[in-house]
Amino acid sequence: YPAEGVESRNKRSHHMCDLCDKVIIGDLEWMAHQKSKNHLYQVRKRRKVEQASDQDPNPTEHQNVSDRQVPVL
Ligand SMILES: [Zn+2]
Repeated sequence: YPAEGVESRNKRSHHMCDLCDKVIIGDLEWMAHQKSKNHLYQVRKRRKVEQASDQDPNPTEHQNVSDRQVPVL
């Protein structure tokens, strides 16, 4: 993501999450956010939208598979 690191001059790094429309302060918080359920939900939602344009009209079955690939901390 090219937008990353724009605010890296601040004391604590800011991370803008476009998917969640949220600003995350701190690298640890950012990493945690990227693994959070809320964020992963937004990621999947976004992917679904992007793929929906040129995919078959039955993407529901693939989604259940990708749910299981998310690593749990
Ligand atoms: Zn997010």
